[in-house]
This record gives sequence, C-alpha cells and structure tokens, in this order.
Amino acid sequence: MPMLGLGTWQNDDHDQCAESVRTALERGYRHVDTAQAYGNEAAVGEGLAAADVDREDVFLATKVWNSNLAHDDVLESTEASLSKLGVDAVDLLYVHWPAGAYDPEGTLSAFDELYEQGKIRNVGVSNFEPHHVETAVETLEAPLFANQVEMHPFLQQAELRDHASEHDYELVAYSPLARGGVFDDDVLSAIADDHGVSEAQVSLAWLRESGVTAIPKATGEAHIRDNLASLDLELSDDEVARIDAIEHTERRVDPGFGPDSWA
Ligand code: NAP
Repeated sequence: MPMLGLGTWQNDDHDQCAESVRTALERGYRHVDTAQAYGNEAAVGEGLAAADVDREDVFLATKVWNSNLAHDDVLESTEASLSKLGVDAVDLLYVHWPAGAYDPEGTLSAFDELYEQGKIRNVGVSNFEPHHVETAVETLEAPLFANQVEMHPFLQQAELRDHASEHDYELVAYSPLARGGVFDDDVLSAIADDHGVSEAQVSLAWLRESGVTAIPKATGEAHIRDNLASLDLELSDDEVARIDAIEHTERRVDPGFGPDSWA
C-alpha cells in the first residue's frame, strides 16, 4: 500500500472531486481513499478513469457504511460501490465503523466472500479499538490488512501502534493534518521553518517515519503537491522526539454519527 494516499471526505462537488483525483494521480499519488458515505465514489471513479495512469497501478480503497453492514447489504452495497467506481475490484474494503448493523459474524463473512471472489483484494476495518480488532481477526478467514483510525501529532495512538505491530496489520492515519490543526502548533511550525516546508509536510513525514500510511484530503493542486512533497522530507531523531512529546490528546472527528461526522 503506498504510504501516502489522497483523502476525499467532503470533496463533495462531483467535478471538483474527479479533478482532484485526476490531478493527484497524474502528480504521482498511487492511493485514493473514499467511502460509500462520502457520496463521491462515482466522482472518484471518473477521476481514476480520466487520469493518465493505469488502474492496476493505483491502490483504491472504499468503506462500507454502518447501515450496510448486515451480510447481504455488504454484498449488495459493495457491488454498487464497484459499479460507481467503474472497477472490477477494490484494493481495500473497510468496515467504516464497528457500529450500526455491524455484527462480526454476519459482516465479516460477507467480506470473506468478496475476498474469495477477488472483488476486494484486502480486508480492512476502521475506527476499531484493539478488542474490536481481536474479534475481527478471530472471525475472519481472510487476513486483516489494515485499521484506519484518526492519527496525527495531537492523537498519537501509542496503544494501537503497538497493537498493530504485535498483530501484524497496517495502520492508516485519517485526518493526518488534524483537519488543519497542524498549522497552529509551535513545535510543528518551528520544524517546518527549519526545513522551509509546511506543517502539513512535517506531520505527514512524522507519520511515515512511524510506519503509518497517511491519507490527507487535498482539493486543489497546491495542497495536493505540498502533501506529496512530504515523501522527500526526512526528520531527524531529535525532531521526531520533539513531535512525540507534543502532549495533548485531541480527537477531531466526532464519532457521534451526526451529518457532520459522516467520515
Ligand atoms: P485532513 O486530511 O487532516 O485535513 C484536510 C484539510 O486540510 C482540508 O481542509 C484541506 O483543504 C487542508 N489541507 C490539505 N493539505 C493542505 C496543505 N498542504 N496546506 C494547507 N491545508 C491543507 O482531514 P480529513 O479530511 O478529516 O482526513 C483525511 C481523509 O481521511 C478524509 O478525506 C477521508 O478520506 C479519511 N477519513 C476517514 C475517516 C474514517 O472514519 N475512516 C474519518 C475522517 C477522515 P483543501 O480540501 O482545501 O485542500
């Protein structure tokens, strides 16, 4: 899985979203993250088709929304996602939240069927705590590939990082720019100034150096390019330690499932 992907939550305008995806792929991104709940799978598919990049070179991920997590609904809604995305298979399909109609046996047996049929190349979960992950691993026949969770310098997820390395699955950081919060932190700004880069790049480089994949959302070309340039930024051990020492714990995504939290 490419360690930098394009996030697309709230990239709601169809043409704009398709253009963001096309631009990102043509500038060098090879990983795109969407979800049934974002309402933009068709736009993501359009951007993918328009880009001068082979489908097989792109790692495409989507997520099954909470109300579609009963066994048959997983199968039906995933078919609909594939059709909107214009692909035969996705590289990663996540359970979006362990909530709503989620039931480990029913939900995950449908994920296993899709995996067996080759319609999903990897099985993922999102917003899972360690105990949810352990139940999922025991229930699934397919390997668990990734858990996508909120992670940035203000929510460092130490317990999940240990759990992921112990149980051999990938962590994918959502809201890796703390939804804009990284621009207001003195430690990140000082490190960014020293390198002549943005705070966004510093946060993304810190995640990468922690072994975590990041999927920053970026709409226009300037942000798309800025975030991609983080792949060239190397932080010193001292800089990593200064970021590790940022102390507050702040969640930016409300897990309350209101309309504003349809992440
Ligand atoms: P984010 O990536 O932390 O922040 C996005 C915000 O930062 C946008 O306002 C964006 O503006 C801005 N931005 C991006 N690059 C920038 C740059 N280089 N300089 C200045 N501003 C920049 O927040 P997010 O969208 O919450 O998270 C990223 C992705 O994770 C989502 O899009 C989604 O794919 C996924 N996600 C998943 C879940 C889940 O439950 N699994 C929850 C939340 C998010 P522009 O749009 O104007 O470029």
